[in-house]
Amino acid sequence: MGASGGDDVNAAIELPILTSLAEGGTPRMGVAADDHALRGAQGRATPLGRATQTEQLIDSFGRVHTNLRISVTDRCNLRCFYCMPAEDVQFMDRKNLLTFEEIEHFVRVAVPLGLRKIRLTGGEPLVRRDLHRLVEKLAAIPEIEDIGLTTNGILLADQAQALWDAGLRRINVSLDALDPVKFHEITRREGYEQVLAGIEAAQRVGFDPVKINAVSVRGLTEDQIVPFGHFARKTGVEMRFIEFMPLDADNAWERGKVLFAHEIIETLSRDIQPLVPCEDQDPHAPATEFVFSDGVGRVSFIASISQPFCMKCDRFRITSDGKLRNCLFSLEETDVRAMLRGGAPDSEIADAIRASVAAKKEGHEINTARYIQPERPMYSIGG
Ligand code: SAM
Ligand code: SF4
Repeated sequence: MGASGGDDVNAAIELPILTSLAEGGTPRMGVAADDHALRGAQGRATPLGRATQTEQLIDSFGRVHTNLRISVTDRCNLRCFYCMPAEDVQFMDRKNLLTFEEIEHFVRVAVPLGLRKIRLTGGEPLVRRDLHRLVEKLAAIPEIEDIGLTTNGILLADQAQALWDAGLRRINVSLDALDPVKFHEITRREGYEQVLAGIEAAQRVGFDPVKINAVSVRGLTEDQIVPFGHFARKTGVEMRFIEFMPLDADNAWERGKVLFAHEIIETLSRDIQPLVPCEDQDPHAPATEFVFSDGVGRVSFIASISQPFCMKCDRFRITSDGKLRNCLFSLEETDVRAMLRGGAPDSEIADAIRASVAAKKEGHEINTARYIQPERPMYSIGG
């Protein structure tokens, strides 16, 4: 499990850090950019397709980008209130969606620039027909070291085996409540049992660990914290709490609606077991990972509001309609679909990727008066 031991000393050190912004402190952009660039550059050296320093995707803060989020659709079979409107969703015209071949083409252009990790998302990626075929195409690119998927789990039981066989090895299933009534309140659809069946199927075919994403919302999540803690301990899934971010279609986000990571840590530590930080953390991962002090049950936190991780970010994104974004919160996009369909040479597409990453801002600024919510909500960008 990689626990750092049974004492709670480390937890005691971590808590004040997670508390700082929740209490109105200054965003922590603590990781030295130069150090980050160095580690990124060293970490990416592989015998195949080595990117030289000039070819790498480095922004003006020295962050090296090796990680691409690909949204494969904006359609979804749920209507989570923190993401989509309840009714009358305007989905993209299907002809505007990148084909699997176009996605593969884009990835092959980005690989010589240092791309190594991919996550497929949406909308709900499993509503895209034959998604395993895309996984197969991407898994066949030797430089791609890691392919993950984030899904709401509704269709997972039927697809888990095909995805595994195609080469997918990481999976996150979103589930905000261990209670069918609350599930319906949040998602505005049925399907709780199907999600549980999807999680079980994913574990059965070999995904380990299956990570469970739960958006933490004040007034909704509090009574789910302890059940989720026990769920992680009993089933071996990793629970991952994500602070509610201002990317909801209804524009109803308020800081007061965010349940902060440090509050969840306090509850779990008090009511189950003390949590201690894990030693085997990926320095670029947005999540801070903990394990219960007896070594049973892993819980992590994406504290995007209370402890922004922007200076560790190594991600760029492409939406399902082929728009390149350098950040989830970006206000600008580059139209890669037009390039792919217009027959632009790969060098031009590579230049566009480099330019987009180079223009990345320092951070999301949610905790400042300067924050502007992107026009596209989460389901349309790809979370
Ligand atoms: N439909 C898939 C799913 O729900 O897992 C993939 C797309 S969804 C946009 C990706 C992740 O973003 C999910 O874990 C979801 O809970 C999370 N998410 C969506 N809106 C959010 C918000 N406003 N704040 C924080 N997380 C959000
Ligand atoms: Fe759909 Fe995922 Fe958004 Fe929920 S979070 S509405 S499942 S895209």
